[in-house]
This record gives sequence, C-alpha cells and structure tokens, in this order.
Amino acid sequence: MSTVVFLEHHGNELLKSSLGVLSKAASLGDGDLAGVVIGSDVRPLAEQAGKFGAAKVYVADDAQLEAPLSQPRVDVIARLVRDKGIDTVLFANSVLGADVAAGLAARLDAGLNWDLVDVASEDGKLVGKRPALQDSVYVDVGWTSEPRIALFRSGSFDPSESGGTAEAEDVQVSLEDFSTTARMVDQAHETSEGPSIEDADVIVAGGRGLGGPDNFTLVEELAKALGGAVGATRAVVDAGWYPYSTQVGQTGKTVSPKLYIACGISGAIQHKVGMQSSGVIVAINKDPNAPIFEFADLGVVGDVHEVVPKLTELVKARKSS
Ligand SMILES: Cc1cc2nc3c(=O)[nH]c(=O)nc-3n(C[C@H](O)[C@H](O)[C@H](O)COP(=O)(O)OP(=O)(O)OC[C@H]3O[C@@H](n4cnc5c(N)ncnc54)[C@H](O)[C@@H]3O)c2cc1C
Repeated sequence: MSTVVFLEHHGNELLKSSLGVLSKAASLGDGDLAGVVIGSDVRPLAEQAGKFGAAKVYVADDAQLEAPLSQPRVDVIARLVRDKGIDTVLFANSVLGADVAAGLAARLDAGLNWDLVDVASEDGKLVGKRPALQDSVYVDVGWTSEPRIALFRSGSFDPSESGGTAEAEDVQVSLEDFSTTARMVDQAHETSEGPSIEDADVIVAGGRGLGGPDNFTLVEELAKALGGAVGATRAVVDAGWYPYSTQVGQTGKTVSPKLYIACGISGAIQHKVGMQSSGVIVAINKDPNAPIFEFADLGVVGDVHEVVPKLTELVKARKSS
C-alpha cells in the first residue's frame, strides 16, 4: 500500500486531527506512508510530521497556494497520486479537508468513504469503520477500486509521537486554469480565549440543564480555571445559547480530551458519540436517572448552579495553593 495523508495546517501548526490520522496510518504498518503539506512557506511543517510517523513529506510550497482553497490542493494531490503511484489518500474532516477529498474523488473517479471513525488492514485489504443509523451501529466499509480515499471524523485518533524524522520532497506545483478562478476575498477568525475544543485536554460542556444562555458563564469559568475549552450540546446550539463551532456530537465535533465535564447534559446517543472516547467523563446532572450516568466515570447528582461554581472555586484554590 502506498498511502498519503493530507496534513492540514493553520498558521505554523499542523492540525491535531490530521496528525491523528497520520499516527493511525503509521500504526497500520502497511506499506509506504507519506504526508503532504500544501501552502505558502510550509516547508518547516514537514519536520513536525516526521515525529508522527511519516517517512516522507511531500511539500507543495507556492505563493499561489496561500489561500485555503480546495481546487489548487486537488491539483497537487491528483498529480501526486498519478506520479507516485499512490493508492490511498487519507483526510481528517474539516471544511477544507472534506472539500479537497470530494474534489479529489471527482477528479480521479475514485471511491470516497466518509465519516469514518476507524480503519484497519485486514488480509492486506483496507477496511473502514463508519457509524450508521444515527450512530447506533458501526458498519465496515471497503473500496472496490484504487485510489481509495477516506475522510475521518475529526478527533477520531490521538496523534502519538513516534520520534522519527521525515524526508521532505518538493513537488512541482502546476495548477489547472479552472482551479485558479476562485479567489479568497476575506478570512475571518472567530475570537476565542484558550484552546479550541479539538485541541483541548479538558472540555467543560454545557447543556439545556444550565437553564439559559447567560448561565454559560458557569461553564466558561470552570473551563478557564482548568485551562480547558467550552463545549455544548446541539439543544443549546439550536436554541442560540452558544456557537455552533462548540457543538459536540454526531452533527458536531468528535472530541477526545483527557477530561470531559458534562454540565446539565442528558447524554443522548447523538451527544455520546462525539465525546465517548474522552479519558475521564464527569457528569453533573440533577436527575439520577439521566442516561449520561450510564457511561460517565464519575457522576455528581446535583444542581449545576450549585455544583459548578463550587467546583470552580475548588480548582482555583488548589491552583493558587
Ligand atoms: C440526527 C440528530 C443529530 C443530533 N446531533 C447532535 C449532536 O451532534 N450533539 C448533541 O449534543 N445532540 C445532538 N442531537 C440532539 C440529541 O438527541 C439531544 O436532543 C441533545 O443532545 C440534548 O441536549 P441536552 O443534553 O443539552 O438537553 P436535554 O436532553 O434536555 O437534557 C438536559 C439535562 O439537564 C438536566 N438538568 C436540568 N436542569 C438541571 C440543573 N439545574 N442541574 C443539573 N442538571 C439539570 C436534566 O436532568 C437533563 O438530563 C441530535 C439529534 C438528532 C435527531
């Protein structure tokens, strides 16, 4: 197998979700594994990827690739697939990753399995795992032709450093005329303090049990005290209490922090699938029969308005002592 992983970057950092896919591919130990970084002034990023299992990193470094647009990236990867005989291209899901993966599948007439949460090599065949029926079952999926393209849910794999180094190989950038017609006019960044929920080791998430948007300050203060990020359920996002970018679950983000504190969250299956691989799950809920207690490692039966501020005070006191 000859695999390449699309290594998406923001600024000078490769995305944790892309490095997770790279680590997973390295753990399969099946054939050649390379990464590809695409952008402007991205050469130094190749070094970061070596630590996570890439023996080689293809570098497409060109001012024309500065804007995070998909079609120029499809050009680069499609050419790489043809020139290097690559049979498998893996992506972590993101707005850009999904767009490039879909564009590549169309360009190469290749099969794309999306929304995967795992992959294995069985008797030399690649088998992906995808949740189905509202995430209540997992199905095995395969490919009938090459190249195989896979898009993984963000946060499906933790990056693990293996301490290697990658050889960087420059690739020629030659863009199709139709790929350069789109232009990025503006790029806005949501301002937020602390780590993003994809990268955070600690997530404090709020649900409808908080009672209203203003009470999200309880969750924010606890997250701040723990150096973590704030997550939310779809119910509160749909109600406009908190931004969509913080939604955890089937139609939001998949996260796997070391600690997940769920405040006033019932633990519906669609929420559970987005956070069940967290290291330790703590649930605070006033209903002792809430489903979240069935899979929480630690449960506090109580009112979030009483428990959360006390917890924040304790964390602050512990940190300052
Ligand atoms: C196709 C589909 C996709 C979906 N995708 C997602 C998704 O990605 N993410 C997601 O989260 N949901 C998703 N949902 C919605 C999901 O089914 C639930 O409706 C949602 O997760 C419930 O959110 P909640 O826990 O905040 O609210 P609720 O289910 O209303 O739970 C609130 C909880 O707070 C507790 N509570 C109330 N007051 C207090 C208090 N004062 N102190 C302590 N506890 C209190 C209650 O006992 C209750 O358990 C999806 C649904 C569908 C159909």
